[in-house]
Amino acid sequence: MIKVVVAGYQGKMGATAVQMVLAQDDFELVGLLDPSAKEKEAFGVSVSTDKNELSKIQADVWIDFTQPNVAFEHTKFALENGMRPVIGTTGFTESQIQTLHALSVERHLGGLIAPNFALGAVLLMQFSKMAAKYFPDVEIIELHHDQKKDAPSGTAVKTAELMAQVRKAHHQGAADEEESLVGARGADFEGLRIHSVRLPGLVAHQEVIFGSKGEGLTLRHDSYDRISFMTGVALGVREVMSVSELKYGLEHFLEL
Ligand code: NAP
Repeated sequence: MIKVVVAGYQGKMGATAVQMVLAQDDFELVGLLDPSAKEKEAFGVSVSTDKNELSKIQADVWIDFTQPNVAFEHTKFALENGMRPVIGTTGFTESQIQTLHALSVERHLGGLIAPNFALGAVLLMQFSKMAAKYFPDVEIIELHHDQKKDAPSGTAVKTAELMAQVRKAHHQGAADEEESLVGARGADFEGLRIHSVRLPGLVAHQEVIFGSKGEGLTLRHDSYDRISFMTGVALGVREVMSVSELKYGLEHFLEL
């Protein structure tokens, strides 16, 4: 049995992750964390409001769907206490990922930070990288529910990073373009523009739009329900048990 802790268990993603853990024959829920939890126990395990209480628990994996401002400390805490992090919380900087990777290597612990656990979104990122080699003019539109705290989304940033491996940095649009309203052209990632839409009713969606002479190519992925992320989370939990370093991106555990 893989013993699992879920941090942020009262949130939208955390609650879905708890149901996923309970439904697996080879997973055992052993701990729950959420600072505003009122209950002492839920789903047959004790509830913690302070992460330090979890250092006493014997757990293999720390699933995290919390908030960008605590995710780095949580991942560090998990590694320092012998738990393999499987992190869905977004908003990590490159240097934070490097620091956590170094810590995982030092501790010989596997782990995963995945900006998107939906298999379709992982494929969208890979297809975008393939296309960017031939269509270097590209813009990203990511669309999420209006409670999302970080922008642009981790998936959009990761998509841009992957495309940057094959796309030469260059300014997107006219050289002398001017914004009459600040932000109209979106965020700048090596000259590529990322646009963030926030609306009630949405879950997580992304379009990657390529343009070339006389043709266009649009790739789109939609997560209509949070269950779409759980196949990837379950896969991540199993896979981190057999590696000894932190990986960034679910694609490292897929045969692509
Ligand atoms: P949410 O509904 O706001 O849930 C976040 C939960 O974390 C809340 O219950 C919150 O409690 C709790 N929390 C805050 N600080 C905490 C702490 N210090 N320790 C433990 N729990 C804490 O948000 P969500 O929609 O579930 O999203 C959570 C994260 O997952 C976001 O970063 C989002 O971008 C990311 N996400 C990732 C994927 C993926 O595939 N990787 C997919 C969807 C979402 P309070 O309400 O008391 O603050």
